[in-house]
Amino acid sequence: TASKILVSACLLGHAVRYDGKGKPLAHPLLERWRQEGRVVTICPEMAAGMPVPRPPAEIENGMSGEDVLSGRARVMEITGGDVTAEFIAGAEKAVVFAQANGCRHALLIDGSPSCGSGFIYDGSFAGKKLAGNGVTAALMARAGIAVYSDRQIEELAKSLGF
Ligand code: SF4
Repeated sequence: TASKILVSACLLGHAVRYDGKGKPLAHPLLERWRQEGRVVTICPEMAAGMPVPRPPAEIENGMSGEDVLSGRARVMEITGGDVTAEFIAGAEKAVVFAQANGCRHALLIDGSPSCGSGFIYDGSFAGKKLAGNGVTAALMARAGIAVYSDRQIEELAKSLGF
């Protein structure tokens, strides 16, 4: 059977983001994979029990998801709440879910402190981007799941043999 692809829930239009919205990716490849039944989806932050909407969160001090997993950085809400434990729990749930579905590849939305893989924000809540990954993307990489951002869907298709 065709290998399955884990896709960020918000990329499929599910209203799970901090702002109460989705961010649907309209792309023929994604539509094709959905029709083929290859797409499985999870929102790591919702899987950790976080509400919708919720305050925006960033990884502190220009650090990355890998730093969070290693205990060197926290994930902070703009309102000052420490949501590090929730972000790690969500990442763990997403990896377990991916493995249970046999996913070797993931298509995750970029820029998120959970799902980002190419860039994230620097922790200042000033819209400053930096290269790095979010907590879920980092844990997936550790687990050997190949992570592609929403802008890399063509590369994902190539690696899947399309
Ligand atoms: Fe989307 Fe991932 Fe954020 Fe959930 S945790 S809203 S799937 S970017």
